[in-house]
Amino acid sequence: MLNTGRTARRLESYVQGGWHAGRGEGRPIANAATGATHAFISSEGIDFGAALDWGRKVGGAALRRHTIHERALMLKAIGQKLMEMKDEFHAESLATGATPRDAWPDIEGGIGTMLTFASKARRELPNARVLTEGAVEPLSRDGSFAGQHILTPLRGVAVHINAFNFPVWGMLEKIAPALIAGMPCLVKPASQTAYLTELVMRRMLEMEILPEGALQLICGGAGDLLDHVTGQDAVTFTGSAHTGRKLRTHPAIVANSTRFTMEADSLNAAILGPDAGPGTPEFDLFIREVQQEMISKAGQKCTAIRRVLVPAQHEQAVIEALSGRLSKIVIGLPDDAAARMGALVSLEDRDSLRGKIAEILGEGEIVFGDPDRVTLVSGDAANGAFISPVLLRSSDPMRATIPHEVEAFGPVATIMAYDGMDQAIELAKKGKGSLVSSVFTNDPDIAVEAVIGVASFHGRVMIGNRDSAKSSTGHGAPLAPLVHGGPGRAGGGEEMGGMRGVKHFMQRTAVQGSPRLLSVVTGQWIDGAPTRADRHPFRKSLAELRLGDQILTEARTVTKEDVEHFAEFTGDTFYAHMDSDAAKANPFFEDRVAHGYLIASFAAGLFVEPNPGPVLANYGVDNLRFLTPVYFGDSLRVRLTCKQINPRENAVYGEVRWDSRVTNQRGELVAEYDVLTMVAKTWPVTA
Ligand code: NDP
Repeated sequence: MLNTGRTARRLESYVQGGWHAGRGEGRPIANAATGATHAFISSEGIDFGAALDWGRKVGGAALRRHTIHERALMLKAIGQKLMEMKDEFHAESLATGATPRDAWPDIEGGIGTMLTFASKARRELPNARVLTEGAVEPLSRDGSFAGQHILTPLRGVAVHINAFNFPVWGMLEKIAPALIAGMPCLVKPASQTAYLTELVMRRMLEMEILPEGALQLICGGAGDLLDHVTGQDAVTFTGSAHTGRKLRTHPAIVANSTRFTMEADSLNAAILGPDAGPGTPEFDLFIREVQQEMISKAGQKCTAIRRVLVPAQHEQAVIEALSGRLSKIVIGLPDDAAARMGALVSLEDRDSLRGKIAEILGEGEIVFGDPDRVTLVSGDAANGAFISPVLLRSSDPMRATIPHEVEAFGPVATIMAYDGMDQAIELAKKGKGSLVSSVFTNDPDIAVEAVIGVASFHGRVMIGNRDSAKSSTGHGAPLAPLVHGGPGRAGGGEEMGGMRGVKHFMQRTAVQGSPRLLSVVTGQWIDGAPTRADRHPFRKSLAELRLGDQILTEARTVTKEDVEHFAEFTGDTFYAHMDSDAAKANPFFEDRVAHGYLIASFAAGLFVEPNPGPVLANYGVDNLRFLTPVYFGDSLRVRLTCKQINPRENAVYGEVRWDSRVTNQRGELVAEYDVLTMVAKTWPVTA
């Protein structure tokens, strides 16, 4: 329910291990839908420099004592508990003007993003403190000097400055990758909706799952915060291009080359393909998507469709279809079940939006809606920041500049007719870099032309057609596994994108040295590093197994009968195994050769330890390559070395990666690959 009768809450900042209200009475923050004062906010008197120091010294040190999987598990636990509390967050979110349906991407979407990061980190990253990237680069002929890229967490604080429109998601999508990387965070939400961020932060801190110092919050102005950043801190910013430019060129950020990620204004386009005329499923999908993007969160979404690019011959049909749908949108108080669209975030933002619409009208006309008149099912437009959806039309979009430059941050979009795909692509690019574009087409050629044509100007491109009508996540939804951000005007930043997002908070370092020392640093055995061959490594549980534990097998000769039996048995009678003349005609072979998979199978037969033991399962191979042909009579042996040990948290096993090298009687490398196994932590297994 709306908090119309409640006492306005005094927001607090959480710094240096305690909650602090800023000095003075604080600035009143109005409920977007009723105008009633909802909260007071002030950060006056907060020592920002000390907060950053605290984060670096206390939070950073504590987080780095944990492994990536341990940190991810903390986030999983937090995410699960937050999900149980979502009703409380939804109640508070009503004051932002968003309907519960519109708050879903912020609240459930934000928590879901955190959980996705927690899950992907445990699946895709090792349970380690240091990440490696790419292959080991041999740097000397004798193998005594090599190089490898490693990633370690930055030793500073990740400062996240967020926009008003996603007070929960904006925080969680940024802190999740940073915390998994091992960086403490200081969150600075937009003042206008900071009450919701503060509530969620309070609940997270009450859980006492993260170590002290891992999270801090500033409610109110940022003061001299950025004066104190160093080259080990990272600043991420979401908001207006104007503020973003100011922060990016802040003297401390420039002087220290502080990592700065910006996600700012974006005039995202949706393109209706020339094939997708009225009567096609793509036309209907397009109309639904544009309407949805205009009204969801009352259009206050960085990814919302601002420019609606349509083939000239379908322009009128699009205007009619969109106007028809928009005329049915019921607007009112966010907790009114009848209302489909709520309010803008503040009356000031509504004034500013009206100004932007007036600017765009300098090069266009209104085809639906009136910025100064709105029909409401509940609430009143004098106190609540309500506005009607407004559909504009640009009569000459190729020459116009304003509709490509002025971001009207509300339920506003401009129709632009194009003549041919080249023009559609040119128009999309006039946004000078956007977060996302979508193209609605069922024609593969148009899909290729449009996507390749606009890709370099975008962080994400969505193709909409009948095949994914039911399953598509839509134009406007940034997703944890995919990149969010865009070039140029969109800020040039990149967030999320799966585990790429974690690496944004780590330093990539090329480490060079001897295999022995490099192996110790990276936590991975490297060819040339010491080995141990005391007993079969498959007899060792994780408690006993060490990197470099190795077995060199007996040799096995491959015969013609073996190859023919394998061919018969598996059905793989490819000519190179069966027909001598045909094999000789093949530029790669001198005669009939053994199957690659026969080699891998014989290798398993050579290195396996058949009795029940700590190796619980083989779950695949990585990077399998067959390098030298194997002819009848060749003799193979395998060298299997423990390369990486990845103990699973909360499990009786861990993953072990084995370096496997198959050689022939001349010592030539026949095949190489990593064998992936699950190995018990102790043997016999104890729960
Ligand atoms: P702002 O750029 O004004 O604010 C964004 C964030 O920056 C807020 O947390 C704000 O804090 C903070 N901030 C402002 N000045 C400073 C400073 N000097 N030092 C440190 N932090 C600072 O954007 P708004 O949220 O007010 O939105 C304004 C416009 O930005 C919108 O109308 C829209 O056009 C665009 N926008 C774009 C978004 C996107 O994702 N592309 C998202 C939201 C907005 P405080 O609130 O306390 O001032």
